[in-house]
Amino acid sequence: MSPPREPFDFWRRPAVIASNDFKYKSLSNWAFNISVGCSHACRFCYVPSAATNKQGPELAQYGVTKPDEEWGAFSLLRPWDEKKFLASLKKAENTPASALKTDGNRAVMFCSTTDPYQTFKASTPGKTKLLNKSAAALVRNALIAIRDHSTLNVRILTRSPLARLDFALFKTFGDRLVFGMSLPTLDNTRSKIYEPKAPAPSQRLKTLQKAKAAGLHVYVAMAPTYPECDAADLRHTLTAIKDLNPITIFHEPINIRAENVVRIQQQAAKLNVKLNTKVFANSQAWREYALGALDLVQRLAKEMDMESHLHLWPDKQLGSKACFLELRRSKRAGLKLTPYETKRYDQQDLETYEKQYLPWLESKWHRISEWPGKE
Ligand code: SF4
Repeated sequence: MSPPREPFDFWRRPAVIASNDFKYKSLSNWAFNISVGCSHACRFCYVPSAATNKQGPELAQYGVTKPDEEWGAFSLLRPWDEKKFLASLKKAENTPASALKTDGNRAVMFCSTTDPYQTFKASTPGKTKLLNKSAAALVRNALIAIRDHSTLNVRILTRSPLARLDFALFKTFGDRLVFGMSLPTLDNTRSKIYEPKAPAPSQRLKTLQKAKAAGLHVYVAMAPTYPECDAADLRHTLTAIKDLNPITIFHEPINIRAENVVRIQQQAAKLNVKLNTKVFANSQAWREYALGALDLVQRLAKEMDMESHLHLWPDKQLGSKACFLELRRSKRAGLKLTPYETKRYDQQDLETYEKQYLPWLESKWHRISEWPGKE
């Protein structure tokens, strides 16, 4: 009889390269995800709604019955199967350029629905050791195979300083690999609220500095910044990022996905801290916060001469014409306008949407992120 499964364990299916469906992010064409779940437990994480909930019945076999609520308390490591991995690599390698989105830079992302350098904590020290050793080997085996059996690029995205153990391997890829970390703030205390089990931002910054010193191509994801990240906080983060001279700085605020607002609210209540959750109260409040954060980061980056490397990620929901017009109308609430004036303002708002706002969004949505060695 096989031993009972637990929330930190091995998943039944192996890790392979799979196409991903990023829209308007310009991160990669494929993803290599080492596990189902993620031990970093970020409260805003979009993954449970996007991917993990689909695994519901299978997760239940590991004792995970509410993946969204239990996010961060489970991570199931996919085993290494060389034959299956190489088959997936061959399929990706042979995909004609015409079938690929150009904004993916022919890259495989490590990882898109989990963190490649997280730690696993099982019920016994022996199993914990086995999982962590297997995870490290899984990432290395996959990287070496991609390097030696394909011409694909690799994008690493992590929150963990454990990545430094692979810097020498990353270096062997030359221009084919970019290394990035998520760094929404440098405030360790605030990060502990939103990203309770992820390594502190100060450690991430040091890791990025070491990556730069090791000669790697570095990028940063200020993603997602929190509602509490004001101009001073963002400027502080951007100042540290500027010293890294990253090839790209991605930015987005927190977007509303499935249960993530509930998770943020529960965390604030649990820690008895006051968070600015009002910005998630309804779609209009969230739009104001999201657009305000994007605009602020853009202005700061311009002021600091970093705008050419800034890659904003405005959420698709910000494109709705009806919502844009509703937001503009709400700004005029309280003004005593005649029907004629109201009509004139509505017409002006429509023109602003079509001639300025939508083109601005589209320029961000269709931006192709930098890749080393590319013109
Ligand atoms: S590290 Fe990434 S995948 Fe993991 S919980 Fe945080 S946001 Fe989600």
